Amino acid sequence: MASTQRPVLLEPDAATTQHLITHRRELHASPELSFKEDETARYIVERLDTLGLDKLTHGVGGTGVVADIRGERPGRSVLVRADMDGLPLTETADVPFRSTRIGVMHACGHDVHMAIALELARWLADRRHELPGMVRFAFQPAEEQAGGAKPMIDAGVLDGIDRVIGLHVWSQLPTGQVAIPPGVVMASADMFTLIIRGRGGHGAQPHLTIDAVVIAAEVVTALQTLVSRETSPVAPVVITLGSVHGGSAANIVAGEVVIQGTLRTFDAALRRHLLARIAQVAEGIAGTMRGSSEFRHDSGTPPTVNDPAIAALVGEEARRVVGVDGVVPFEPLMVGEDFAYFLEARPGCFFLLGGAPEGPPVVHHTPEFRIDEKCLPIGFQVMTAAVLRLLRPD
Ligand SMILES: [Zn+2]
Ligand SMILES: [Zn+2]
Repeated sequence: MASTQRPVLLEPDAATTQHLITHRRELHASPELSFKEDETARYIVERLDTLGLDKLTHGVGGTGVVADIRGERPGRSVLVRADMDGLPLTETADVPFRSTRIGVMHACGHDVHMAIALELARWLADRRHELPGMVRFAFQPAEEQAGGAKPMIDAGVLDGIDRVIGLHVWSQLPTGQVAIPPGVVMASADMFTLIIRGRGGHGAQPHLTIDAVVIAAEVVTALQTLVSRETSPVAPVVITLGSVHGGSAANIVAGEVVIQGTLRTFDAALRRHLLARIAQVAEGIAGTMRGSSEFRHDSGTPPTVNDPAIAALVGEEARRVVGVDGVVPFEPLMVGEDFAYFLEARPGCFFLLGGAPEGPPVVHHTPEFRIDEKCLPIGFQVMTAAVLRLLRPD
């Protein structure tokens, strides 16, 4: 196939493109924070409700919405996930559909994900008689806090599901390109707290105290050796201690220091090992220096890992939409993504949809975040082709 060839299998009509843009802009203008996506859920339910679906449930795992479209032919069951939440930022872009809520913004592109899923639901509902199997849509709350996927899974959203698929628009990937890694897509993301305890006292009488600041300093340095000395140099790991707080005055020895950090890896076993070692190293050092350390695992998601066979199928379909050159290699990202829980439970694929806007480059999670809306019909086509392929019983 010539690399420029663009099959027209699913070339969206003007109405589809318009629906995608309308959904995206309406959702963009009314962003909500994690687990507070009530209006967003209502918007989704209202639109899905007109499609005559087989099952439509809301309030799943918080504010989640689940909808089933059952085809009239035998096939597999595929779950399509779209995340719903915005971020605590105030949008700076001067666009007509700018966020109407000061301090809340769709700064990660979840509005794009919902728009594509909504339009795919309409498209599939219209073609139910020729559809094999069943497609379940999971509109998921609280991706940004990595707290939304698990409650939905615990509520049974994966029951009867064979395969899962999701996408993320990516502002650093040109529009017209998609990335479908055959394995790791994103890192695990764990947040932890270490509470270092000593005994406070007079700054001029250190021998009568157990200085938690000095213990913490040793712990901070030692934890980096878990990366440099205990982990293979070809296994990417990040340990960032982003917050260290202790003490109240220059001449008072601090009795307690609280360290907060994050661990990122691409490997599930390494993740478990390092979490245990972080606690152990801190305890060991604190104990040696007559203090103590308490480890708290605040939150965490596993690495996001695609099933290679499913990723290959999705890649084949994507090439039919964006051409051979449009499917590009992509280095795994150190960011976390709670679609990881879906991929841990079922074989599936998470792909990145290029949506780099014109003008200066923008990054996710900033007030300047924008995307190129031309990515909407492309994402819709790739997602639709991929879902139809994954439904096929062969
Ligand atoms: Zn995000
Ligand atoms: Zn996101």
